[in-house]
Parts: sequence; C-alpha cells; structure tokens
Amino acid sequence: MPELPEVETVRMGLAKWVTGRTIATAEVLHPRAIRRHLPGDAHFAAVLTGRTVLDVSRRGKYLWLPLDSGDAIIGHLGMSGQLLMQPADAEDEKHLRIRFTFTDGGPQLRFVDQRTFGGLSVSEGGAELPDEISHIARDPMDPLFDDAAFNARMRGRHTEVKRALLDQTLISGVGNIYADEALWRAKLHGTRPTDQLTRPAVARLLGHVRDVLGEAIVAGGTSFDELYVNVNGESGYFDRSLNAYGRENEPCHRCGAIIRREQFMNRSSFSCPRCQPKPRKTA
Ligand SMILES: [Zn+2]
Repeated sequence: MPELPEVETVRMGLAKWVTGRTIATAEVLHPRAIRRHLPGDAHFAAVLTGRTVLDVSRRGKYLWLPLDSGDAIIGHLGMSGQLLMQPADAEDEKHLRIRFTFTDGGPQLRFVDQRTFGGLSVSEGGAELPDEISHIARDPMDPLFDDAAFNARMRGRHTEVKRALLDQTLISGVGNIYADEALWRAKLHGTRPTDQLTRPAVARLLGHVRDVLGEAIVAGGTSFDELYVNVNGESGYFDRSLNAYGRENEPCHRCGAIIRREQFMNRSSFSCPRCQPKPRKTA
C-alpha cells in the first residue's frame, strides 16, 4: 500500500508533468474509479474539460490537482493505484481506469488500478484545500506542521503510541511500515501508552518519523509489490534499508536480538524485543 513517501514521489513527478497543461478530455473507463464522484462520469468529464492544472498538492496520502476553475481533482491511490504519464500512442494498460488527454497533444495522464480501491473525484471549490480531506492532519514533512501542538495532543491521549502515529487526525501520512521503522529508531514498543511519554521522548520520536519519511522520499518510496511504481514507472527501493518492518526472525541491526512480529490493529508489527521492550502491564 502506498504510504506518504510513495505518494510524495508521485506528487513530485506529476507536478513536473501536468502543471500548466490544459485538459482536453477526461475519459472514465471504469465507473468504480470515480465512485466518490457522485454526479457520474459525464459530469466528471464536463467539469474538467478545458481546465488548466495549476499544481499538484498533497495532504497525507491524498493528492489534489487545483484547477483554474477553483475546483480540484482529488486522487487516492488505495492499495494498488498508479498515476502514470504515457505517450499518447502507448498501448492501454490492462487495468486502465481513467485517461486524461491534454490540449498540447503531449503525454497522457492515466489512472491505472488493478483492485480499484483508489479513485479520482472532483471537489467543487476545492482548489485550496478540498473539504473532503480537510479533516486529515498535516503530515510531519509539511512546513506548517505544529510540533508543539502535536507533542501536547499526543501526550494528552490515552492510547498506544503506534495507534497514535496511525491516527490521520493527529498526524497524517505515517502508515504501518514507517511507524514500525520510527518506533525501532526511537527504541519504543508500539503499545507504550502515550500519556506516559515525556515531551522529549515524543520530540525524539517525531524526529525519527521525519528522518524515516525523508530518507524514503529520497529513495523514491518503498515497494513491497510489483504494483507500486512512481509516475515514471520506476519502483522505489527504500525496502533495502528497513530495520524492523518485514524482518521477522532476522537479527536486529543494532543489538542482534531476533526481530519479532506481533498482531496489532489487524496488521503485523515488527520490533526488537531487546531495544523495544513491551510496557509493563498496569493493573
Ligand atoms: Zn535490538
């Protein structure tokens, strides 16, 4: 599943390719890909035709393309979605769901999604920040992310630290993989209670979250299956430098203890039993 670094990689690639270009046609090849656009495919095409893309923005794992009409195209990649730039004469992908052509006749923007959990929609008046995603917190790479407010809110919650990292209303863009990596670096077990963390401990953890995400963005995103490729069709390679995630039964890179896997929120968590001891149960 694409996480923030992958989506940021796609955003940067897209921004290079579509900013300033005017949409000639918006063709929906599978209705499921615009299921969140309730007025349907004819309306989708009508409000986008002739509009110029001003930029490509991101909040958490959502992308949006502000348009000169004041509306925006919102995109979510879901489990397997890809936004690809393709020459106009390139053959259709097997799972091509939406195709945009541009008035300059240059490369097309294609939304390809095997499982179609992702999709696109139009947010009316959403150019600045679509209402549909305004509940999502800023991510820690956002220059306007408020470290002090995050620290206070995190410690004010009666929850577990990994649960808090995955809460998109508190901090966005940190998925399962990067949460495990940041917790390993911070030497914290994911079930540690947030209200027992000190202010410096939360600040350190936030620093590790930023480092992990920043390194992954530089590396072009993590790829765990063949489905994720960035906008130019290249897979990321950050998975080669993971310390915890996916390393069950392998030695910890710091202390040599064997990395364990536990079930957490219907997913797998990976941690080092020595570096990241579980919190003592309180009665
Ligand atoms: Zn260790």
